[in-house]
Amino acid sequence: SGRWAKAMAILREFEDKCGTPIGKLHQVADAMTVEMHAGLASEGGSKLKMLISYVDNLPIGPWGTNFRVLRVLLGGKEDRVVKQEFEEVSIPPYLMTGSSDALFDYIAEALAKFVATEVWARCGGELTKAMERVGLDMRVAALVNDTIGTLAGGRYYNQDVIAAVILGTGTNAAYVERAQAIPKWHGLLPRSGEMVINMEWGNFRSSHLPLTEYDQALDVESLNPGEQIFEKIISGMYLGEIVRRVLLKMAQEAAFFGVDVPPKLEIPFILRTPHMSAMHHDTSSDLRVVGSKLKDILEVPNTSLKMRKAIVELCDIVATRGARLSAAGILGILKKLGRDTVRDGEKQKSVIALDGGLFEHYTKFRTSMEALSRSCWERKFLKALSLSTQMMARALEQLSWQLPTPNTW
Ligand code: ADP
Repeated sequence: SGRWAKAMAILREFEDKCGTPIGKLHQVADAMTVEMHAGLASEGGSKLKMLISYVDNLPIGPWGTNFRVLRVLLGGKEDRVVKQEFEEVSIPPYLMTGSSDALFDYIAEALAKFVATEVWARCGGELTKAMERVGLDMRVAALVNDTIGTLAGGRYYNQDVIAAVILGTGTNAAYVERAQAIPKWHGLLPRSGEMVINMEWGNFRSSHLPLTEYDQALDVESLNPGEQIFEKIISGMYLGEIVRRVLLKMAQEAAFFGVDVPPKLEIPFILRTPHMSAMHHDTSSDLRVVGSKLKDILEVPNTSLKMRKAIVELCDIVATRGARLSAAGILGILKKLGRDTVRDGEKQKSVIALDGGLFEHYTKFRTSMEALSRSCWERKFLKALSLSTQMMARALEQLSWQLPTPNTW
């Protein structure tokens, strides 16, 4: 029918605009490299902040939604981590937009609760008593963001780790730069000659990014218009929302769900990325997961198989674009470091530590990234070190590696 053809035309046009052929990915990667240079040259020189990782300078990103409290017993060089336990605490949404005082109070309370829980037998009750005595007199040694934690944790296990990328609710990357290659840094050079750079790459933007009208509308209506453009097309916070926007257009202009537009479909962010992912991975012959998600979330009771297939395709378009652009961002880092091609006979390996709920749970997103790195680029650069929470603890021991000790500067 005419309606169906119209809906498919909307889908095809969207697919077209989301295209990420290899040539485009190289353009995006090159643009990333250029911005990296600019951000390292001067403060405010680029959309990429390229933060030098003095730990007391680390910002609290706007999109972290949970934090982890860990208790780690360090056993020195030989034993490394003897024992550890952790707790994951989610941050209520109202605290993420409020004052930093309220946020830190919340974190401190959760920390106090955790510390008050049972302490390992090896430490005996003495520690508990001691803690009571001092009224929880703890000292903040360092605040490390998850990206740098992942980099440190990855490097701990594999010396070839040169960068870390987080793909979760938001996205970010950190990598190891030569201190000499940071013009904006006027301090003494560290003994190692290296410095971790927190790129804050979610804020990357470039005319080469395949942005569609839906991305533009999402950005304009967001809390931070004009900011975090890269993040808005690749991270878990937004993928489901992009799908919703395209579906809404199909409903409004091509009566995709019938003459009435499902009211729920008009609610921003109602379709979350985990829902999208569940539909995308539906392997049943009648796509019943897609059917039930549409029913549960959008309150659309009846959908034909043809419609469900179109929706799976839509999920695929959005996820594939995000995954391939994420890989292009990584290629940008490799290009910056001169590690994107094999230099004569040299056997340097480059390993990227990857973490975050999107990468961890959205299988098709992950495989799309991995497939690209295997088939199209000269060397296998993308080795997924999907770091678990447990490994984060190990990152703590690695802190000395990335923190400047004043007397060595
Ligand atoms: P953070 O919120 O700190 O980034 P995570 O790294 O755990 O925490 O990432 C959580 C994000 O991962 C969610 O907001 C969601 O976008 C994404 N995610 C979680 N589970 C899934 C899933 N099953 N499929 C797709 N994405 C998921």
